[in-house]
Amino acid sequence: MQRRRNYKVKDLVNDIYTDVLAQWQKVNTQFTVPVIVSERSIKRRMENLWARALEESLGKGKLEVMQTFNQVLDRLFYILSCKCRIRSCAEVDCSLNCAREAHIDFSCSREMKIPGKELLYIKGQKEKVGSVGPHQIGPVEIREHKRQVAATQRQKERREAGERGRESWWSL
Ligand SMILES: [Zn+2]
Ligand SMILES: [Zn+2]
Repeated sequence: MQRRRNYKVKDLVNDIYTDVLAQWQKVNTQFTVPVIVSERSIKRRMENLWARALEESLGKGKLEVMQTFNQVLDRLFYILSCKCRIRSCAEVDCSLNCAREAHIDFSCSREMKIPGKELLYIKGQKEKVGSVGPHQIGPVEIREHKRQVAATQRQKERREAGERGRESWWSL
């Protein structure tokens, strides 16, 4: 209960980072620094986004802050260092019996090169960035949903007032 009441931006950032990282490493366990950008810079990006969400929602309720944050959060999902252009086989017009799914002309440094064959997935992640709404965000919503379910459970048990537990987690 204490932990919940003290849920801060730092915790939020940690949770999201863990989720995003897990999602990438499920695709390929070699997705570690320097193939992906550093933990610190990902977290800094998140904190900046949060600060911006706060600014944009100035004078509005906490729910609006959260919604604004969710809308920009998707920019975080592309965490690889490599920014080289990935093109599908159709785009490059390669031979019909091409064994690859997509092509990339690496121009970045060797240690940043994307390992493995998941270029098409990565291409999808890149293109998703900046173009989707809050409903596709996932991690935060799922976690918040779980939190709310747990909170409801606790409230039922303790017969506490409805809103008390929920309002704290996105406060600064
Ligand atoms: Zn590259
Ligand atoms: Zn091809």
